[in-house]
Amino acid sequence: MIEQTLSIIKPDAVERNLETDIKEYFIKNKLKILKAKKVKISKEEASEFYRVHQTKPFYEDLCSYLSSGPIVVMVLEGENAILKNREVMGATDPMKAEEGTLRKMYGISIDKNSVHGSDSKENATTEINFFFK
Ligand code: ADP
Ligand code: MG
Repeated sequence: MIEQTLSIIKPDAVERNLETDIKEYFIKNKLKILKAKKVKISKEEASEFYRVHQTKPFYEDLCSYLSSGPIVVMVLEGENAILKNREVMGATDPMKAEEGTLRKMYGISIDKNSVHGSDSKENATTEINFFFK
């Protein structure tokens, strides 16, 4: 099934000029970039975007971090794009991510893990609408 998912290149990766490399890696892995824009969001917007994590101990830091610098938000499209993007990204903790995944290649730590990807069809729709509507 052809799906769309939301991807974010997080501040740590934008800061290290990894935008082009990461985009090329998605394309190489059959994830087409339908839309892309570079934005800087407020802490309030980050808190809204990550509201599913509001009970987690790392929520405050997470929202501060996502709003700390420019990010690149993208709509990716492809066969099973939601799961496919999660596979290309790798595990949340770069130390546990498999070889050949973006987080293994570029992630610095569990909080500075370079990329975000929607985790379900429902969240993909919500997250795409959050940035592109
Ligand atoms: P993922 O980004 O792989 O979907 P989660 O949805 O569980 O992971 O968490 C969202 C983000 O919160 C992660 O990408 C990571 O940046 C951060 N995070 C998750 N777990 C931790 C943790 N234990 N400590 C610090 N930050 C975390
Ligand atoms: Mg998640």
